[in-house]
Amino acid sequence: MFKQFVKKYNLPNYRITQIYEGYYKNFISSWDELTTLPKDLREKLKEEIPFSKLIFVSNNTSKDGNTNKVLFKTEKDNYIESVLMKEKDRNTVCVSCMSGCPVGCIFCATGQMGLNELLDSQQILDQILYFCRELSLKNEKVTNIVYMGMGEPLLNLENVARSIMIIADKEKMAFSKRRVTVSTSGHVQNLRIFLGKNLGVKIAISLHAANQKLRERLMPGVASNNYLENLLDTIDSYTQKSNKRITYEYVLLRNVNDSVEDAKELANLLKGRLALVNLINYNEVDCLPFKKSKKTVLFKKILEERGITCTIRKSLGEDIKGACGQLGI
Ligand code: SAH
Ligand code: SF4
Repeated sequence: MFKQFVKKYNLPNYRITQIYEGYYKNFISSWDELTTLPKDLREKLKEEIPFSKLIFVSNNTSKDGNTNKVLFKTEKDNYIESVLMKEKDRNTVCVSCMSGCPVGCIFCATGQMGLNELLDSQQILDQILYFCRELSLKNEKVTNIVYMGMGEPLLNLENVARSIMIIADKEKMAFSKRRVTVSTSGHVQNLRIFLGKNLGVKIAISLHAANQKLRERLMPGVASNNYLENLLDTIDSYTQKSNKRITYEYVLLRNVNDSVEDAKELANLLKGRLALVNLINYNEVDCLPFKKSKKTVLFKKILEERGITCTIRKSLGEDIKGACGQLGI
C-alpha cells in the first residue's frame, strides 16, 4: 500500500524508507507525526491510507498489572481481542487472526462464537503496532509475538503469512522470527503449505489428546478430517528436515484428558520425537462444563519420567478473561 502511494505520486524511493521508518520502526501514533514528510504528503496519506484499520474500543488491565486486553472493532463491526502479557523482561503480544473461529473446539470460548470474519494482514499488524506504540511511550518494546488469540491461523493462511513477512522484513519491523510463534489446531494440508513457506517462525500444535478418538471429541471441527497420524507424519518430515523442536500444547481438562493413562499415552506418542509439551491449565469459561485439572504436576512428572521435555504455561490475565481460550465477545 505504501509502495503504491509512492508510485502514484511519483515520489523518490527514499520516501518509502521514511514512511517505513516512522510507521514500523519509530511507532508514530498518527500520520501527523511523520514529520520527515512534507505537510502536503502527510495530508495525502491521511486521506488515502487509514493509520489503523482496526478501531480501538477498550483496554482492560489485570489486577496485577501484567496483562492488558484490548478490544478492537473491524470495519465490518465485528469485535476482536488482543492481549499484552508482561513477564520479567518479556512483553508478549497475543494476536487474533479472525473474529471468532470456525473450528469450534468444545472447551474454547472463541470456538463457541463461530466465524465472523477473517482478518487481513494489516488488521493483524494493527494489533501488534498498537502495543508497540503503547510500549514505546515507556521506552519498552514488544519482545515476542504469538498467534494464539482468536481464530485458527492455518485457516487464514495467506494473511497470517503476509503479516509474518512484514514483521520480519528488515526494512519494515525487522522483528526476529525466532520470537514469533504460530499456534495451530492442526489442519494438515495447510500445515504442509505453511511449513513449505519456510517462514522460520516457531510452531505450536494444539494436541490436547493422545489419541484420535478423544481428539475428535474435543476438537471436532479439525480432528475429524485431520487424523492425528497424518498430522504427526507431517510434523515428523518437517523436524527431520529442519531439526527444529515442535511444541505440543495440551490443555488439561479435569477427568477428561488428565488421567495417569492419558499422560502415559501421550509420552508413548511423542517418544523419540523432537518435542516439547506445554501443559496448559484450563481457564474456565462461563457456560462451558469443563474444569481445571488437579493433576497438572503429576501429569508433568509422568511425562518427564518417560523422557519427554515438559513445561507448564503460566496463565496470565484470567481475571480479565484475557487468558488462553477465554477470548470471546
Ligand atoms: N486456534 C489456535 C490458536 C488459538 S488458541 C489453536 O487452537 O492452536 C491458543 C491455545 O489456547 C490453544 O492451544 C488452545 O487449544 C488453547 N485453549 C483454548 N481454550 C482454552 C481454555 N479455555 N483454557 C486454556 N487453553 C485454551
Ligand atoms: Fe479455534 Fe483454537 Fe479455539 Fe479451537 S482452540 S476453537 S482452533 S481458537
